[in-house]
Amino acid sequence: MAGKTIVILGGGFGGLSTAQQLRRVIAPEHRVVVVEREDTFYLCAFNMRLMAGEMKDQREGERSLSELARKGIEWVHGEVLELDPTARRVRTSSATLEGDYLIIALGAEKDGSIIPGFTESAYNLHDVNSARLIHQPLQEFETGRAIVLVCRSPFSCPSSPYEAAFLMDSTFRKKGNRQHVEVAIYTPELRPMGAAGPEMGNAVIGLLKERDIGYYPQQKVQRIESGSRKIVFEEGETSFDLLVGVPPHVAPKVVREAGLTDETGWVPVEIDTLETRYPGVYALGDVTSIRQPNPTGLFLPKAGVFADEQSRVVAANIAAELRGEDKSKRLDGKGFCYIEVGDGLAAYGSGNFFSYPGPNTYLEPPSKKHHEERKKLEMEQLEDLV
Ligand SMILES: Cc1cc2nc3c(=O)[nH]c(=O)nc-3n(C[C@H](O)[C@H](O)[C@H](O)COP(=O)(O)OP(=O)(O)OC[C@H]3O[C@@H](n4cnc5c(N)ncnc54)[C@H](O)[C@@H]3O)c2cc1C
Repeated sequence: MAGKTIVILGGGFGGLSTAQQLRRVIAPEHRVVVVEREDTFYLCAFNMRLMAGEMKDQREGERSLSELARKGIEWVHGEVLELDPTARRVRTSSATLEGDYLIIALGAEKDGSIIPGFTESAYNLHDVNSARLIHQPLQEFETGRAIVLVCRSPFSCPSSPYEAAFLMDSTFRKKGNRQHVEVAIYTPELRPMGAAGPEMGNAVIGLLKERDIGYYPQQKVQRIESGSRKIVFEEGETSFDLLVGVPPHVAPKVVREAGLTDETGWVPVEIDTLETRYPGVYALGDVTSIRQPNPTGLFLPKAGVFADEQSRVVAANIAAELRGEDKSKRLDGKGFCYIEVGDGLAAYGSGNFFSYPGPNTYLEPPSKKHHEERKKLEMEQLEDLV
């Protein structure tokens, strides 16, 4: 069989994971091409380490994409400008490519400009260049309201705003001024980490309560007034002295313009194979919406651990097809996450999101062991992906 070309759009967590998986399971005559506009890969989870001051320089968490060549993966350094899923053709700022397979792993656009005042007022937890700046003001903060704001749902890494609040709490306790600081979260969610079901949400609320962190759910922000340090919600308003925010997430413009999204705003895929409605075109990771096959109507969380599992399914099925075999690998809906709570401790959540009648998840209490496991896993992921 003549060699096939597999074009992967996006060299983030899901795209790189797919490329690495494919290279392990398909023959060398097939090309694996990754299109990515950045020249390095950075693991977003390190934003928490930068905020806590555990990581001093973001470059510790980066790897150059030029390293991919050593593993037989081609990297096209460019912006995807246009994509035609029917022809499986992509126009980028540096080349036009056609694939026998196209895998869309372009993640989510994190667009603070959707909320007037966000960019001027908030440290953006989901942008490394902003997240790395949070540590210093936290150290210098003496008294007032330190607020974490989630602008819209869904967003990537559902535990991240809670981790930010826990890290604020522990920072102020260590400094000895916790009694002078009010720490609180405002979010449009009904409960924390809603896609994991009510038990998980209640467990996280328990951790917040133990630390006297205020929790204000179902708060949809309209605008932020930077001068008067005011957050205006659809109903009511609140003040802040230090603001850390999760900006609204939307599917990347090029994906929306290609007509790949549905009424959820994200790319619908076959729940267990990640196939789109276009033959040979797959989508995975944060850009997708995958509804859980249970009556809850909930979606799978946008998280690296799911992008990783999805990449294994896509790679195994493409490899099977290339060998003339049945595509038999299926997504199983299992996932896990670590939740940093400060003081060198992390809780560990895990479970099955495809369970009936709803996700079956549980949270193991914070421990030093889980914190160390997380650190080890992150370094392994970084080394594995590039
Ligand atoms: C602060 C933070 C902490 C997190 N912690 C965890 C964690 O502990 N555990 C966990 O499981 N998940 C975590 N996540 C979530 C995880 O990072 C994402 O779910 C994961 O990165 C999704 O992978 P993806 O490939 O779909 O998207 P991404 O990793 O975002 O990759 C998308 C890539 O596409 C590129 N791209 C986009 N548009 C274009 C274009 N037009 N042209 C060229 N390239 C383009 C981007 O540059 C990017 O590299 C965290 C996220 C954040 C923000």
